Amino acid sequence: MSAKPLGLVFFPAFDWAISPTHPERQERLLYTRDQIVEEGLLDLSAIREYKPKLATLRDLQRVHIGVPGIEPLITDAHLISAGGAIAAAESVLRGETAHAFALVRPPGHHAMRVVHGTRGFCTINIEAVMIEHLRQHYGIRRVAVVDTDVHHGDGTQDIFYHDPDTLFISFHQDGRTLYPGSGAVEEIGGPKAWGTTVNIPLPPGTTDEGLHQVLDAVILPMLADFQPDMIINSAGQDNHYSDPLANMAITAQGYARLAEKLQADVAVLEGGYSIEEALPYVNVGIILAMAGLPYHRVVEPDRHLQNLVQTDRINRYIDQLIKQWQGLWKNRDHMRQQVMQQAGDYWRRSKSIYYDDSGIRESQQETLRICPDCHGTLQIASQAEGHDIGIKRVFGVVLPRDCCPRCAHAGRDAALAAKKQNHYGIVVIQDRQNDTYENLIGR
Ligand SMILES: [Zn+2]
Ligand SMILES: [Zn+2]
Repeated sequence: MSAKPLGLVFFPAFDWAISPTHPERQERLLYTRDQIVEEGLLDLSAIREYKPKLATLRDLQRVHIGVPGIEPLITDAHLISAGGAIAAAESVLRGETAHAFALVRPPGHHAMRVVHGTRGFCTINIEAVMIEHLRQHYGIRRVAVVDTDVHHGDGTQDIFYHDPDTLFISFHQDGRTLYPGSGAVEEIGGPKAWGTTVNIPLPPGTTDEGLHQVLDAVILPMLADFQPDMIINSAGQDNHYSDPLANMAITAQGYARLAEKLQADVAVLEGGYSIEEALPYVNVGIILAMAGLPYHRVVEPDRHLQNLVQTDRINRYIDQLIKQWQGLWKNRDHMRQQVMQQAGDYWRRSKSIYYDDSGIRESQQETLRICPDCHGTLQIASQAEGHDIGIKRVFGVVLPRDCCPRCAHAGRDAALAAKKQNHYGIVVIQDRQNDTYENLIGR
């Protein structure tokens, strides 16, 4: 058992719901809370509870470009959810806890850098807001995020796609069979950060066995190589066999063992919609494992292991996937050089983004200035259309933390040129080096 306790932050967000019968609702945390109290976990010296704090708009603007601004898109619940993650992490960084788990909602991992509305139940990316807060205030640099939600963490991927200091690893049910559809191996990071986005799409029906093979053969060695200052677990629990929104076959034991092996500094709750059958058990398993306590007795009443057996087809598929990733990871430095050479001075891509909860369609063009001296300036041109918002156009420039003077100039010039065009309603410079956020048009 660790000498220091596990920090726990609870925030069930009573006043926030997409609709009363929506699967993402407060009961997700209330049943867990009951189970934790029933098991007497809060009375243990190995566990200490912390109150969430309130994230600030500055915290959000370090990560997001909200349209028309981030404030009209969110409620206090979002600030407390992100603030809960920050409070959890700070308990670790202050040295009071060995690890911490933020059991908060609304979730965040589908929220991308540009935000026009809500998608996949997420409006702001609570892990990213936490990470950039820690970088700003605690001098943390290298961070690994391991996203264990069944859905691809496309928002977190988007935010850190060009950041070689953030290793983003997501395993999830294959996007060809589940929302949001992305998360293929080929989505592997921008040219400067090639290989620091790691997607591991698993076939429906993957069990604890397949998951732990991937963990042992791919994820844990990557973390050992990357040597992050901090490991964050986006702890979604919808890989559980009983989850109504997905088709995987992971148990509470599988999740608890994962938490034990991962040794994440901070876990932040993401999805998980099997409110009575899974969440209380999975959460208790994770809490015990993170606190260094025995978790072997945490078993779902309806678990039948004979129904949770991987087919040979899945076994073979996972073996192949492991080999593929081991090869890519070994050659990543060489391949990054090749990709940079091929890209030349600028790297571009176009994206279509659908906000399923807000009924908004966005099309986005990203242009990265490839620079030998820094991570490069990112320009984002976005147009969104929806019944409630009409048409919105935004141009954003993101200056990286290590921005060189040349890239700072290029970014500012691009923003001023965009302003002159009279085409965009909002032109924003998000300057990570000076920690400023500037809207060049009005307001
Ligand atoms: Zn999910
Ligand atoms: Zn530069």
